[in-house]
Amino acid sequence: MSKKLLLKDAHVEGIRYFDTYRRQGGYEALEKALKMAPEEILEEVKASGLRGRGGAGFPTGLKWSFLAKPEGVPRYLVVNADESEPGTFKDRYLMEYIPHALIEGIIISSFCLGAKTAYIYIRGEFAWIPEILEQAIEEARAHGFVGKNIHGTGFDLEIYVQRGAGAYICGEETALLESLEGKRGNPRLKPPFPAVKGLYQSPTVVNNVETIAAVAPILKMGGAEYAKIGLGKSTGTKLISACGNINKPGVYEIEMNITVEEFIYSDEYCGGIPNGKRLKACIPGGSSVPIVPANLLLRTLNGEPRMMTYESLADGGFATGTMMGSGGFIVLDEDQCVVRHTMSLAHFYAHESCGQCTPCREGTPWLYKILKKIEEGHGTMADIDLLWDVQSKIEGNTICPLGDAAAWPVASAIRHFRDEFEWHVLNPELSQRQNYGLAGYAEPIVAPAANS
Ligand code: SF4
Repeated sequence: MSKKLLLKDAHVEGIRYFDTYRRQGGYEALEKALKMAPEEILEEVKASGLRGRGGAGFPTGLKWSFLAKPEGVPRYLVVNADESEPGTFKDRYLMEYIPHALIEGIIISSFCLGAKTAYIYIRGEFAWIPEILEQAIEEARAHGFVGKNIHGTGFDLEIYVQRGAGAYICGEETALLESLEGKRGNPRLKPPFPAVKGLYQSPTVVNNVETIAAVAPILKMGGAEYAKIGLGKSTGTKLISACGNINKPGVYEIEMNITVEEFIYSDEYCGGIPNGKRLKACIPGGSSVPIVPANLLLRTLNGEPRMMTYESLADGGFATGTMMGSGGFIVLDEDQCVVRHTMSLAHFYAHESCGQCTPCREGTPWLYKILKKIEEGHGTMADIDLLWDVQSKIEGNTICPLGDAAAWPVASAIRHFRDEFEWHVLNPELSQRQNYGLAGYAEPIVAPAANS
């Protein structure tokens, strides 16, 4: 049974409210932090090895240490709650059911960073959650944890919740800052990075909801203890939102030391694949990361079990691996059509491109059009090569990572499932029916029944 840090009290009735959260030990980490020097808190976060949980996996303590501290200039903490990646829904769960975990993390983090103002920038479609967060902030204020002179320390903090208008690109940190400033959410060129010139041109730390929520357990148990959980540089626990062809879709907190196979087949997590179907492929880190066929998902190229860690999922680079990303774990069984699936993602990215740079603005709709043509049975073999060519011109040639995010699913789908694309070309009359392409099958190493 995996250790739980963020979701340990998720089953407790009323955990959404201050009194219950407090009874379960909530705000003890904050009380401890308020007696520490900000530098000591930073050292604990560094020692924990916590990495950003939004997708990039950058070390949080290191990111915080980059924050510029010019005299007389305000600093900001901005929580990225613009969770819009298809397949990713773990921050929503955390904010909706245990909002004080985020609020406590914000207060500790702001105290450490010297930020007197923190913003939670939340996806516009999460229409019901701002109210929950605002109620949690007011409860914390009523107990002296938000506002002026918090618990007599002289530290002041205001927390604001700002709803986005529904653009996926505002999950990119600089687009988010633009939007927060009231402008169109177009990503900025970097450098300068937000740690130097962020919100209103002031030093700003932007972190994902789960990352900030992890700060309270780290302070409570100590960074070194937190670092003992997990494997190698993948320390601590990670929230995974699992969906697709599995028996138990949902949000799971895992210790990053279990195998991918255990995550898919054990009853503690996904509970296997419905109706005894075979595993075909998986997108383990949200829709932006490369798809991997079952054989490469369960084992690395040298035969090692693939682990649910940043390093193991990336093993072999994009030729044989993928990424942990945001932890949006999408499972495809043997009946799923990779071409159709890739087309659906391409449509999403074409719609969400902000249009600032040509490769992304022109390339993403082009990817979608070619995929649609192939999927509908009008494609040619040359179209598959064209698809490859177009995605390769987008990757690495854009202002923000959306271009890469649009290119990687297409590249990996062709790399691993080219025969399925060819099947659509060769069988135009069957093209829109269920696809029975056989690429990427692997028998589960442990049969589902053995785990149940
Ligand atoms: Fe906009 Fe796409 Fe360029 Fe990002 S890559 S800045 S979304 S056009």
